[in-house]
Amino acid sequence: MQIKQSGVTVWFTGLSGAGKTTICRAVEKELRAQGCKIEVLDGDVVRENLTKGLSFSKADRDENIRRIGFVADLLTRNGVIVLVSAISPYSEIRDEVRHKIGDFIEVYVNAPLNVCEKRDVKGLYKKARGGEIKNFTGIDDPYEPPVNPEVECRTDREDLQESVNKVMNALNKYIVLPQLLSVNNNHSNIAV
Ligand code: ADP
Repeated sequence: MQIKQSGVTVWFTGLSGAGKTTICRAVEKELRAQGCKIEVLDGDVVRENLTKGLSFSKADRDENIRRIGFVADLLTRNGVIVLVSAISPYSEIRDEVRHKIGDFIEVYVNAPLNVCEKRDVKGLYKKARGGEIKNFTGIDDPYEPPVNPEVECRTDREDLQESVNKVMNALNKYIVLPQLLSVNNNHSNIAV
């Protein structure tokens, strides 16, 4: 399928268990089905290679985000749709990355702490409450919610498809489907 796209980074931020990975993977599936060129940077995977060895101190968390942002920027500049899924608890570094990349959609994956804790997808909240894990976001480490995100998904109130649709709507201006391309060719004033 012929498709035109321009690069953009979609940055999913939120507490552990809020639904970042779930929404990110579902968006990935839709974009792939449309023939888009995309890359996923998942926080857990990145910490196994690109940022291996970094701790969960504020300085190392910021460094983690800075490195992910660097890669996302390179890809974005080369026309890729980059999906980043990482807790990214500090707003200052998120904003730094946003300004560096420019084409940036911040998705606040928002579910209350008690809901995330009840889900406890990876059993980490239990460990954090039990003192087995220190500096766990939401328990004994801060999470600074985005003030003005492009998209907010309330995963405790909306179903997965609603969240996915919100993200896809925000992505619309970066993707031009074939049927629209013929219209564009006639008017030739759309930037892609
Ligand atoms: P994170 O990547 O933020 O740590 P995950 O995506 O791994 O979170 O886990 C979120 C959990 O919440 C999954 O088990 C998912 O099935 C569940 N969930 C329930 N409702 C939603 C929703 N509307 N959107 C996303 N996830 C949801």
